[in-house]
Amino acid sequence: MLSLAKALVGFAILAANLKASSGASIDSLTSCLNALPGTVELYTSGSSQYEEYRDGERVRLERYPAVIFFAANVEQVQGAVKCASTTGYNVVPRSGGHSYENLGSLDGQLLLDISTLNNVTVDAASSTATVGAGIRLGNLYVALDNFGFTFTGGVCPSVGLGGHMGAGGFGFLARKWGLIADNVLSATVVDTSGNLLLVNSTSHPDLFWAIRGGGGGSYAIVVEVLLRVFPEPPVNTIVVASWDNYTVGKDAIARFQAFAPTTTENLASQILLGFGSITFLGRYLGPQSELETLLQQSGLLSVGNATVTYQNCTSLGAQAALWDSQASCQNLDALTTPTRLAATNRENAKAKSEYVTTLLPDAALQALVDRASAIPNNFGFIELAAHGGFLDTVPSNATAFPHRKGTLMLIQYVIFFDLGTIEPMNSTRYGWINDTEKALAPYVSGAHYQGYADLDVDPQTYFAGNWERLKIVKGNYDPVGLFSNPQTPGAELVPSAGQGAPTGPNGTTTTTKSGQPSAAHQNVPTGWTLSFAATLLVAVLTFAFAR
Ligand SMILES: Cc1cc2nc3c(=O)[nH]c(=O)nc-3n(C[C@H](O)[C@H](O)[C@H](O)COP(=O)(O)OP(=O)(O)OC[C@H]3O[C@@H](n4cnc5c(N)ncnc54)[C@H](O)[C@@H]3O)c2cc1C
Repeated sequence: MLSLAKALVGFAILAANLKASSGASIDSLTSCLNALPGTVELYTSGSSQYEEYRDGERVRLERYPAVIFFAANVEQVQGAVKCASTTGYNVVPRSGGHSYENLGSLDGQLLLDISTLNNVTVDAASSTATVGAGIRLGNLYVALDNFGFTFTGGVCPSVGLGGHMGAGGFGFLARKWGLIADNVLSATVVDTSGNLLLVNSTSHPDLFWAIRGGGGGSYAIVVEVLLRVFPEPPVNTIVVASWDNYTVGKDAIARFQAFAPTTTENLASQILLGFGSITFLGRYLGPQSELETLLQQSGLLSVGNATVTYQNCTSLGAQAALWDSQASCQNLDALTTPTRLAATNRENAKAKSEYVTTLLPDAALQALVDRASAIPNNFGFIELAAHGGFLDTVPSNATAFPHRKGTLMLIQYVIFFDLGTIEPMNSTRYGWINDTEKALAPYVSGAHYQGYADLDVDPQTYFAGNWERLKIVKGNYDPVGLFSNPQTPGAELVPSAGQGAPTGPNGTTTTTKSGQPSAAHQNVPTGWTLSFAATLLVAVLTFAFAR
């Protein structure tokens, strides 16, 4: 009996130690951060700035990080990582805050916002630019234009470079020059120990491979990138063709898919069904006359009664037109974006994506039109973007982004919810996007784009054959899951990612507001620790009774 009592006392001590090791207070983290050199900007629950910055710009899922820290410089990024590691918190980097699932902010963790790291230095002789990873794409297009250069990246100006390169980064120059991930020549990253690493094809090549398309926020924090840039194309034509209803939808998509993914790499285009109309949008790196010939050959513009406009633009103007609501290449202001998250950019939306590798049959085209016609309140869209061109020439394991040869199109479904509301999971709008996914499932590849984050899908479908190598990189560079992205390998170490359901009073998941540190910072996950403790207790008790 004495032995049994000793065993129970021993277990109580063990349990107390476990509690202590996972019960560090938020104060230890803020004290550490406040002691970092330079001006420190951090916010905790209760301040108005905390409310302003705790979510990114996609706010379907509300998040409550333990601390929000705006790094003023790279040294503060390093210091913040060390503070989190030693006080038992996970670190979630945020650049532009455009993750559709708000993955740049997770409950109870250190939100490390690097949007201040937005410097741009151009070396015209080598056609490269050194760029802070916190910069927003629109500001980078504008900065490079001052030197006569551009880069190949996404359309939305307020997307951040850090998360974009982790996704892959696809835009209207990708058929010509590839993804942004294909044009990152090297990067400076902060690892889990707070060390600065230069990563490229010869230095930490596996890590360099993973941060280009392997998902942001998981392997290291990218603070600076050496980017290949391109002399701005001198002649740019923007074409917009629109049909004011969906009746010609099947025919229009059929002609689009038959030519857009295989046409010259100088033409990038997409077709969008939404808001009650169909819109074809293209950027051609050449004169209008050539583009008109190409489109005539495709037969696309002979479908129904299309309203067609052409604009001859500067390179920067073309980039602006792709985002401007009127598709005007005069509205260069469309590209300039505030450095900080802006409430005016917030949207409440859910996105899903599908890659298409075989031509969509008639039934799929009909399904697309039917689903577009069923968009609740016309408050959503279906977009098909042509791949092919340069993207076809890159091996699927050259970077962690695998969707290369044979990929014809990327489809995106988006449904918007009203800002400031929490949409119930059984609502018509959730129903629409889920039913749309189901309706098209028989005709698509089953692979998805990680940039259009969707917590409903198995993350392996983002990375295809690259998943196993990503697991190895994660294991080598962040075995305890200090960095958290639930849609990358190591997700089992992420404590509070949510499951795609909205948070809040009407939602189906609960939200942690305590600011307590997560378990993943410890050398072993809590589940493992507890089972070890249980095993130990059983062993001790068995021994005690055996005596
Ligand atoms: C309106 C809209 C338009 C879009 N348009 C396009 C488009 O045209 N083409 C396209 O390819 N994609 C597009 N996207 C998708 C976009 O590329 C991804 O959502 C991207 O991950 C956003 O990056 P971010 O830095 O803005 O987001 P964040 O929310 O800040 O980050 C996204 C993820 O990356 C991690 N991360 C952020 N910064 C870093 C860093 N410095 N180092 C390591 N990890 C980091 C975060 O922790 C998080 O997991 C669009 C998204 C939206 C909402």
